Amino acid sequence: MSNFDGDAASFTATVEEEPPDVPLSTNLLPILSAPGDPEATPALPLGPAPHRSSHLIASPRTPRGNPLTRAFRRRFFPEVTDQEWNDWRWQARNRIRTLGQIERILELSDVERAAMVEGGSMLPVGVTPYYMSLVSRTDPNQPLRRTVIPTTHEFTRKRGEADDPLGEDGHSPVPGLVHRYPDRVLLLVHDFCSTYCRYCTRSRVVGHGDIAPSEARLEKALDYIRRTPTIRDVLLSGGDPLALSEERLDWVLGRLRAIPHVEFVRLGTKMPAVLPQRITPQLCRVLRKYHPLWMSLHFIHPDECTPEAYRACSRLADAGIPLGSQTVLLAGVNDDVATMKELVHRLLMMRVRPYYLYQCDPISGSSHFRTPVEKGLEIIEGLRGHTTGYAVPTFVIDAPGGGGKIPLQPNYVVGRDGDFLVLRNYEHREFRYPDPLP
Ligand code: SF4
Repeated sequence: MSNFDGDAASFTATVEEEPPDVPLSTNLLPILSAPGDPEATPALPLGPAPHRSSHLIASPRTPRGNPLTRAFRRRFFPEVTDQEWNDWRWQARNRIRTLGQIERILELSDVERAAMVEGGSMLPVGVTPYYMSLVSRTDPNQPLRRTVIPTTHEFTRKRGEADDPLGEDGHSPVPGLVHRYPDRVLLLVHDFCSTYCRYCTRSRVVGHGDIAPSEARLEKALDYIRRTPTIRDVLLSGGDPLALSEERLDWVLGRLRAIPHVEFVRLGTKMPAVLPQRITPQLCRVLRKYHPLWMSLHFIHPDECTPEAYRACSRLADAGIPLGSQTVLLAGVNDDVATMKELVHRLLMMRVRPYYLYQCDPISGSSHFRTPVEKGLEIIEGLRGHTTGYAVPTFVIDAPGGGGKIPLQPNYVVGRDGDFLVLRNYEHREFRYPDPLP
C-alpha cells in the first residue's frame, strides 16, 4: 500500500476546466452570490436520501422532472430560470467543483472534506447541478454521493492497482486512439466529462485537459483509421463525446462515415444520467444522420433513472439509436441483487438494454469501490431466471494489461450422467439433457 504523490492543487486546478465548446461563464454560481444564510431557506425533503427513490420512477406523464430536483433548485438556484436550468451549457458552466461550492450544499464527512482539502487525487471533481440535486445532503454513504464526492480512500493504492490497468497507453498508435482489437478502435475525442465518477477507469486521462478535440489531433486519428482497413468499428468515448457541440460531433461522425471500411460507430456516454438536458432534438438530428450508430449509456443506480433521464433516453431511442447500458459493480452503491434488479428493470422501461456489468477495474485508489468477484456472480445468479432475459447483463472482467473483456457466469453445469449432461436451473433444480458422448 502506498500513497499518491499528488498535490493540493489537484482539485482547485480544475476551476478553469470547461467543456471544449462551452464559452467560459462570466456569472458566478448563484449559490456563491446569493445573500443570506442558505440554511434559512425552507427545509427540503433532501435529508438522508432513500437508496431507492420510488418517486423517481420514470414516466412520460411526469413532465416537470423529479421532486428532489425541484426542491434542490428552489433552495440553491432560486434565481435560475427554467430555460437556464434546462440548458446543458448552463449546467456544464455551473458545475460544482470546489470545496466552497460543495460545502454550500452538502454536509461533508471528515474523509470527504480531507480529500477536498488535501487534494492529491488523479481525478478532478465536477458535478452538474442537476446530478447534485439527486445527491443526499447529509448521508455520505448514499450511493450516488459515494460515486461523485471524493474521499481520502482515493489516496490509497492497493496491491494490483495501476493508473492504466487496461494497458491502453501501450496500445495507442496515435494520441487519444486505442487499438487493442484488430477490427475496432477506441477514439477519445477529448477528456472532458460534465461529472467525474470517482471510480473512472480513465482517471489518469479525464479532466486533465491533455486530450483536446483539436482538428489536428483528430485528423491524425482519422488518418490512422483510414489507413487501417481492418478497422470496421469505432467507439467514440473520452471524456464524454456528447460534451462536444453538434457542429463538432457532426464533423467527427461525418469524417468517420466517409471511411468505406468503417461499418459501425458507437458512442459511450453518461450524459443521460448526469446531464440529460444535453439530449436535445438538435443533437438527435445530428446523430440520426449517421446510422448505424449505437450507444452505450452509463447508469449505475436506479436513482439515476429520473423522468429527465427517461426523456433523454426516449429521444435517443426515437432517433433510432439502439441503447445499451454499461454498469460498474460498486461496493456500497449497487452490490446487491435488489438494487441491481431495480436498476435493470428501470433501464428496460427507459428502452435501454442492460449490456455489461463490469467488475470494477483495479484503478489506483479504487479498492473502496471494489467487491469480490463472487459478488458479481451472485448478482447474475439473482437475475438470471428471476427476471426478463433482456434485463440480465453480461458480467465481465476487463483483463488487466489489455487482455480484453472476459465474461463470467455462474456455473449451471452440475456434471455428466453417461450420455446426459446434468444441469441446474435458477431454482437449483436438476435436469438431464441428452448430449451423447462422441
Ligand atoms: S463519465 Fe465515464 S469517462 Fe467520465 S468520469 Fe465517468 S466513468 Fe470516467
